[in-house]
Amino acid sequence: MSKIVILGAGESGAGAAVLAKKEGFEVFVSDMSKIHDKYKKLMDDHQICWEEGQHSEEKILDADEVIKSPGIPDTAPMIQKIKARGIHIISEIEFAGRYTHSKMICITGSNGKTTTTSLIYHIFKKAGYDAGLAGNIGNSLALQVAEDPHEYYIIELSSFQLDNMYDFRANIAILLNITPDHLDRYDFKMQNYVDAKMRIIQNQTPQDAFIYWNDDPIIKKELEKYNIKAIQYPFSELKENGTIGYIEEGQYKIEKPEPFNMEQESLSLTGKHNIYNSLAAGIATNIAGIQKDVIRQALSDFPGVEHRLEKVCTVRGVQYINDSKATNVDACWYALESMKTKTILIVGGKDKGNDYDPIKPLIREKCAGLVYLGADNQKLHDNFDSLGIPVRDTHSMKECVQACYEMAEPGMTVLLSPCCASFDLFKNMEDRGEQFKELARNL
Ligand code: ADP
Repeated sequence: MSKIVILGAGESGAGAAVLAKKEGFEVFVSDMSKIHDKYKKLMDDHQICWEEGQHSEEKILDADEVIKSPGIPDTAPMIQKIKARGIHIISEIEFAGRYTHSKMICITGSNGKTTTTSLIYHIFKKAGYDAGLAGNIGNSLALQVAEDPHEYYIIELSSFQLDNMYDFRANIAILLNITPDHLDRYDFKMQNYVDAKMRIIQNQTPQDAFIYWNDDPIIKKELEKYNIKAIQYPFSELKENGTIGYIEEGQYKIEKPEPFNMEQESLSLTGKHNIYNSLAAGIATNIAGIQKDVIRQALSDFPGVEHRLEKVCTVRGVQYINDSKATNVDACWYALESMKTKTILIVGGKDKGNDYDPIKPLIREKCAGLVYLGADNQKLHDNFDSLGIPVRDTHSMKECVQACYEMAEPGMTVLLSPCCASFDLFKNMEDRGEQFKELARNL
């Protein structure tokens, strides 16, 4: 019997274990940290062997293949040892893809993945299609393939998942954009990160579709290197050479496969970045054959996703917006770009090697104040103090929201769009967003 070892027993690892067991492998799951009770129970219910708080090297290096959680970097000592032994390492998505013939709609990009994935899923459900939500968002693909199969899977793929994908084929691949992110996991070489993102089109055939943002300079340059077999569906904000999805005279338009249009005003998501996300979702669902009136309705009643430009409340005429998920500079750029009033911007957190230059012109134009929120705000002072905009230095969400309250005048917006990861002061970006919302609502 072939032996499969799974490293990391979170949503993807525990799900992969269940599928591997079902497919007749000898399965062993190992996690250096404590495993969540929910996943322990899932594995126990399926008589799967697991360990936590350690890696039993002998057992792990005896594997025929290893499925690795996307959270574990290649530099982890155990991964180095597995590689030295020549054992093949794959991701949960790669593994699950071997045991299903369902249609795979895969979404990647540096920003906009969760929004676009959720929007596509919303349209599919509205159309009554049998679809599962998987990948970075939602439930394990492997677990669904094993126990709750669907005809379609809408899968959000991070670069870390793509890193360990080899034979997996996306029937519809969406590449939203590529901007610097996670470079600490890619030897600080942008090209390594770009290569990971481009894996979304590997194995595509002429029967498949490739949807991408045509205005992205990095994607444009990369495409010259590839022999793309899938049918291409480039989109852009305005109609231009070769694009098949765009905005023209206030109309949201898609040219193929089925001509489609609707009022731009009716789109539920606002902001330039969300035009892209809505175009990508509209094209994908059009290709899947969903009726136009359903797509139209779903694009206009999508409720949005928590922590992404989420309107929280209005206090004393000031609107509070939670964009805690904006953990890089590009995401903040789009959030600021969509602001219609003078803004108090909250920035800061764990810096990922950010270059703040791209957002300085927008800050000058739109911001009436900057509130720094981090354990160490020095880099923010160095970058922004000289812009001549009032700044406040804070080290907790309580202090931060109070500072915003004091700075903002009626008619303004307070925007949490921090450009940084949250781990210096918060458990995660959700915790940061929750604290912001609660304190803003209690003002
Ligand atoms: P991801 O899952 O890729 O992190 P999200 O959909 O969660 O992306 O959005 C994260 C943040 O990125 C949002 O808060 C928004 O500010 C910004 N954003 C969303 N879509 C795009 C896009 N297409 N281009 C650039 N920035 C975007």
